[in-house]
Amino acid sequence: PGDTTGHHLSLAETAIAHNYHPLPVVLASGEGAWVSDVEGRRYLDCLAGYSALNFGHGHPGLLAAAREQLERLTLTSRAFHNDRLGPFCRDLADLAGMDTVLPMNTGAEAVETAIKVARKWGGERKGVAPDRATIIVADGNFHGRTTTIVSFSSDPVARDGFGPFTPGFRTVPYGDAAALESAVDETTVAVLLEPIQGEAGVLIPPPGYLQRVRDICGRANVLFIADEIQSGLGRTGTTFACEAEDVTPDIYVLGKALGGGIVPVSAVVSREDVLSVIRPGSHGSTFGGNPLAAAVGHAVVELLRSGEYQARAAEQGKQLRERLEALIGHGVVAVRSRGLWAGIDIDPARMTGRQACEGLLARSVLAKDTHGSTIRLAPPLTVDAGELDWMCMQLAEVLTGT
Ligand code: PLP
Repeated sequence: PGDTTGHHLSLAETAIAHNYHPLPVVLASGEGAWVSDVEGRRYLDCLAGYSALNFGHGHPGLLAAAREQLERLTLTSRAFHNDRLGPFCRDLADLAGMDTVLPMNTGAEAVETAIKVARKWGGERKGVAPDRATIIVADGNFHGRTTTIVSFSSDPVARDGFGPFTPGFRTVPYGDAAALESAVDETTVAVLLEPIQGEAGVLIPPPGYLQRVRDICGRANVLFIADEIQSGLGRTGTTFACEAEDVTPDIYVLGKALGGGIVPVSAVVSREDVLSVIRPGSHGSTFGGNPLAAAVGHAVVELLRSGEYQARAAEQGKQLRERLEALIGHGVVAVRSRGLWAGIDIDPARMTGRQACEGLLARSVLAKDTHGSTIRLAPPLTVDAGELDWMCMQLAEVLTGT
C-alpha cells in the first residue's frame, strides 16, 4: 500500500484505539511553524501540540540539548542523583519566582501531584482532619484524564462511565470570585484553576478575578494552585498567564512546552514550605526528572529567560487579535485571545468548528475545534507576521466559502 495517507488512515482505524477523532492528515516531518504530511504537503501548525510546541518543531537549540544528552545519559531513576536535574530545577524555580521543583512527566501527573501536595499540606500545616480535605475547582475545567482528575470534570464525555469517582472536590462557576469565596470552609486546602481555560475555548476570566482569588486564598490559608500547563511558558505574552494580574500563586503546575515538544516534562513548582510535605517514599515517578527530560527542560527555561518568546507572543498576538476581530460578523461570532492563543466562536448557522477545521486543512492550516463551534488557535511562538496574515486569510475564505 505504500506510505500514503489512505494506508495510515486505515491502520489507525484498526490498530489505534479511537480515543481521538483526528483530522485526516498524516504528518511526517516538521520545521518551525510548519509540518509536512506523508504526501509532501505542507501545513502551518496552528495547534502546536496543544501548546507543547511553543518554540516550534525542531528548534535547533532544543534539538542540540536533546542530542547531546541522548548520547551521554538518558535515565537514572531517582534512586540516584543525575547531573542535569539540579541545575534544571534551580533555574525553573528561579524563572517562576519559587524555591523548589517536583519533576514529573505529563500534565495530568503534575496535577495529581499538586492535589496530593495540597492534601498533605492541609493535614500537616493547616490541621484539616484526615480524609476531609476539599479542593475547589472551576466549572468547565480541563486538568487531564486520570480518574481523580475526571472526578471533578464537568464534561460528561470525559466523565461518564469512569466512576466511582474521587471525592473531595467542590465546583464553582469560573470567573465568579464571590461564589468561590462562599465555597471555602475549614476543610478547604486549595483552589485549583486554569488562569485562562484552554480546552473550554480560551475563556479569559473577568479582570481582577485572579487577584481576588489570590486574596481569598491568602486570607483563608488555602493554597492557590495555578494550572499553567497550557497557558504558561510564553503562550500569553508573559512567562505565566497569572502575571497579567500580577498574581503569584502558591503552586504552579507546568507541562507541555516544558518538554520543548521533544519529551514529556512536567513539574510542580512551589515554595519550600509547601513542597517539604513530600518526603522520601511518599511520591515518585520512574521517569520524572530523568536527565534527558531535565536537559531539554533546562534548555526551555534558558529560551524563556531572555523574554524574547514572551515578547513575540505579545507582539504577534496584537496582530492576530486585529485580524480575527475583523472577521466578526463574517462567520465569526466572538473572539477571545491573549498573546498567541485564541478561541474563535464560529457562527453555528454557517458551519461547525470541525467543518471549519476541515476547511482550514484543505487550505494548509492545522487547527482544532473544541466544544462544537469554537476553533482554538495556538501557533508556535516563532510564527511570523506574514504567516499569521496568510492564516487569517485562509480562515476568512473558509468561513465565507470563497
Ligand atoms: N492541564 C491543562 C490546563 C491542560 O490543558 C492539559 C492538557 O491539555 C492538562 C492539564 C493535561 O496534560 P497532559 O495531557 O499532558 O496530561
